[in-house]
Amino acid sequence: MGLSIGVLKETLPGERRVAITPKVIDVLTKAGVQVLVETGAGFDSGFTDDDYTARGAKITPSAAAVADAAQILLTVRVPEPAGLVKRGQIVIGLADPLSDPQLPAQYAQAGATLFSLELVPRITRAQSMDVLSSMASIAGYKAVLLAASALPRLFPMMSTAAGTVPPARVLVLGAGVAGLQAIATARRLGAVVSGYDVRAAVKEQIESLGAKFVSITIGASGEGQGGYARALSQREQMAAVLKEQDVVITTAAVPGRKAPILVTRDMVHVMSRGSVIVDLAAERGGNVEVTRPGETIVENGVTVIGPVNLPATVPNHSSQMYGRNIVTFLKNMMTKEGALNIDLNDEITRDSLVVRDGEIVNARVQELLGATLPATS
Ligand code: NAD
Repeated sequence: MGLSIGVLKETLPGERRVAITPKVIDVLTKAGVQVLVETGAGFDSGFTDDDYTARGAKITPSAAAVADAAQILLTVRVPEPAGLVKRGQIVIGLADPLSDPQLPAQYAQAGATLFSLELVPRITRAQSMDVLSSMASIAGYKAVLLAASALPRLFPMMSTAAGTVPPARVLVLGAGVAGLQAIATARRLGAVVSGYDVRAAVKEQIESLGAKFVSITIGASGEGQGGYARALSQREQMAAVLKEQDVVITTAAVPGRKAPILVTRDMVHVMSRGSVIVDLAAERGGNVEVTRPGETIVENGVTVIGPVNLPATVPNHSSQMYGRNIVTFLKNMMTKEGALNIDLNDEITRDSLVVRDGEIVNARVQELLGATLPATS
């Protein structure tokens, strides 16, 4: 008898994605895997129970029934294990263990095994399993749409009988996966786009998308008192660039750490009234000093949007990509005959494994828990 895999309906408020879509089930059933799907799991992403059944999955009436029957549970947001996950069970999903080490601690207590997809290494072989990249692409795209609909101006230049309007000026701070997608999307909408990143290596990537690379360097000079040149601080340079923008999209992150503040309150105040900031780092504390995660505020006439979980607002395609990523990850741990093989010599398996049979095996999570454990008297 082959492996049995369960797909749970997501329970986090606003989480509309599903861990696998009907389309990728074939990949599993062909390998002899039995797939159990909790009823309604795909509904918010546009997939009915019948869509799953047609691809060979078995619809199961509750999360508890799925967890009872399946050896491995696939999720988007890893749920708390209490009352659901059994001893020896394997759970794969997004657990964010470096921000929330208590969740792995609960899995350890439950005697279960936990793989966290955020920890899949960013190596070429793992690109097709890279959930961070696929979800960042969606977030980058959606951030631009949010900005475009909040902006009281148009993105493209328009020449009409009623006059000509200039294109919007958009600045993207942080040109990783999300930032590059934001640049591409803003360009497609007709904006004049520029991008900035601390990694000078992305200059070419920014330029290849038709955007301008903004250079903010130590030692850059500007005009000082009496017309003499003087060194400008990086903050002054940033403020000068921000002043020119209609839209700023911030995506800067440092893995495992709070996001850096790139735009201070004072910098927001130099921007024109009506301009818009979308802070994609809101969930990690924000790149903008005034951001409030999950809220839209207006600061001195500037709209500051702090979206959380943007991929869940595009659930159909997010689930399609996530499902492909998670199934590829799972297949990497399966033999040709369809048996599970947790091989710790495989870098992808080893790095993403957080808890194994009740033991926390990820050193960074161990460290974090050591630091947060209450002192014993
Ligand atoms: P991320 O989400 O961690 O960070 C986003 C961007 O913010 C990065 O480009 C980073 O340099 C930038 N940043 C950080 N601090 C900053 C600051 N103070 N000011 C301005 N920018 C700042 O990164 P990501 O998008 O997940 O990935 C970053 C890069 O990693 C990618 O562009 C790519 O080159 C590489 N990558 C490689 C693989 C792979 O080989 N499999 C997969 C994904 C990403």
